[in-house]
Amino acid sequence: MAVQTKKIPLRKCTGCQEMRSKREMLRIIRTPEGEIVLDATGRKNGRGAYVCCAMECFEKAVRNKGLERSLKCRIPEETYGMLKEEIEAIEKR
Ligand SMILES: [Zn+2]
Repeated sequence: MAVQTKKIPLRKCTGCQEMRSKREMLRIIRTPEGEIVLDATGRKNGRGAYVCCAMECFEKAVRNKGLERSLKCRIPEETYGMLKEEIEAIEKR
């Protein structure tokens, strides 16, 4: 008999396009004020995009404009820079 598994919500990485569970991913959101921020808690309101917890995927998402597509807005260079710093900090943990 099949084991009953709990359904894990999957999200698509805007970088590598792979599906992963939400908990393994970074959430980047556009707040109602129009700011693009890394949502470390996963609880902030706003339109969200997901990337794997890896710099490689974030950089892919930047290059292929996956983040801009998901968040439906233009992302300025300095915002990308800020996000990158935050992800670097997370990766080092
Ligand atoms: Zn990825």
